[in-house]
Amino acid sequence: MATCRTRIDPSWSRINPLAYTVDMDTAAQAHPPVGTGQSAGSGLHWSNRFQRLGLQFYTEWAAEGLPQPYWVACSEACARDMGWPTDWADDASALSVFSGNAMWDGMRPLASVYSGHQFGVWAGQLGDGRALWLGEIDSPAGPLELQLKGAGPTPYSRRGDGRAVLRSSIREFLCSEAMQALGIPTTRALCLTGSALPVRRETWETAAVVTRVAPSFIRFGHFEHFAANQQPVELRALADFVIDHHYPDCREAAAPYAALLRAVTLRTAELMAQWQAVGFCHGVMNTDNMSVLGLTIDYGPFGFLDAYDPDHICNHSDTGGRYAYSQQPQAAWWNLHAFAHALQPLIDDRDAAANALAPYTVVYEAARKRCFNAKLGLIDHQADDVSLAEDWLQLMAANAVDYTITWRRLAQFNSDDGARNDAVRDLFIDRDAFDAWGARYRQRLRAENSFDAQRAAGMNRINPRFVLRNHLAEAAIEESRNGDFNEVHRLMSLLQQPFDEQADAAAYADFPPAWAQQLDISCSS
Ligand code: AMP
Ligand code: MG
Repeated sequence: MATCRTRIDPSWSRINPLAYTVDMDTAAQAHPPVGTGQSAGSGLHWSNRFQRLGLQFYTEWAAEGLPQPYWVACSEACARDMGWPTDWADDASALSVFSGNAMWDGMRPLASVYSGHQFGVWAGQLGDGRALWLGEIDSPAGPLELQLKGAGPTPYSRRGDGRAVLRSSIREFLCSEAMQALGIPTTRALCLTGSALPVRRETWETAAVVTRVAPSFIRFGHFEHFAANQQPVELRALADFVIDHHYPDCREAAAPYAALLRAVTLRTAELMAQWQAVGFCHGVMNTDNMSVLGLTIDYGPFGFLDAYDPDHICNHSDTGGRYAYSQQPQAAWWNLHAFAHALQPLIDDRDAAANALAPYTVVYEAARKRCFNAKLGLIDHQADDVSLAEDWLQLMAANAVDYTITWRRLAQFNSDDGARNDAVRDLFIDRDAFDAWGARYRQRLRAENSFDAQRAAGMNRINPRFVLRNHLAEAAIEESRNGDFNEVHRLMSLLQQPFDEQADAAAYADFPPAWAQQLDISCSS
């Protein structure tokens, strides 16, 4: 079985991206840009600032589209946030563009180069092996970059085919938008197209293209690339680019690059706390999968916790558990050191880099406390809140209760003396332990004069009823293989409102079936 780790190939480092630069006129003839004036793309203003960094950073590259593409799904929420009309996909050219078969005027497709550490080992040059930046547009949310994932090989594909399969593309599409609805920083997904084109993974599957959207797709690995190749000019240009466009406050700091490191450290710490709180496991936290904007990026073998097990490993290929749920904050900390190491030539002073990293633990712990207090429905912050939350988590782990359902049911906790709280209590095998913890919780709620109904409403806005459990995604994938995308659409719409009760949706909020435990999600995508 192909895994992430077996992809390490020493020949990667010999790739000269410039040698692959295509003649854009030829590329345009192969894939002529569609319409002017009539297409949905014609009103867009493309600024493409990343492209101005120059050819050391990318290779201009034409997409290799999907034969006879079809729509799988579009995210209305993403289009709305981009300021696009709801019927944008009805445009005659849209399907061609978002399956890689055509370009709108102003798009300048390119594949960027990056390197990185995979599973703690330096992997050398990687890069956009199957992602293609289309360019950057203005939007009500500020400038946004668009990327096709799965539109054919690039100079950075190494032995890969540049494709993404429908299975993993459905997962990325749904989870990107689900995370956004949960309020967790993430790259977005505008749409998903598919094709009968066969793609070989463990078995034969079919190809798909996800269109991803983000203010920036720059990763820690982009910095590591120029540091490792001893290209200080490019390293500085990249840091300046990120500061100027994404962290302008750092420009005002006495040491802007150390300030950048600090800012990325803070955002990463916040992201880790949010992942932990919602029970999200990324699965492949390599440095090339770490966004410098603190976004969740590159959805592969991710998973949401079912039965709570802090040591849960969502990636079948991660046999050592490096990226197990409980290890994620530590893995991010490791990755930040790799990022700091890459920035070191710009910072000079080792102490300054260490000082910029130093707040990570404190900020992570504070964010974690804030998240878990909110999950517990606590308004005030008191000294022993951390132990109340940690003991609750321990109790949940000891009883292997379902993570999402248990938090959700805790909202119904009745703080009256003598209330039995069966809805949540019955989830635990050790009822005495639950009662003991419940007594502490009751006391704590009293200490801030908590009003049950109000607390429940607040907790239900923090603890989701619906998350993209693997078995739910799997059911949608299974139907999609037969050309039926209704389940993808149904899930999409449920996950857009993860905190609402939603009619006729109880099955989606229920315990996972026994077969869900048998699902193996690997890096292969
Ligand atoms: P990932 O594990 O998905 O983060 O990918 C690690 C590296 O492998 C990145 O440089 C990807 O672009 C590249 N890659 C992954 N899958 C493929 C593929 N099917 N074809 C080409 N490159 C790929
Ligand atoms: Mg990746």
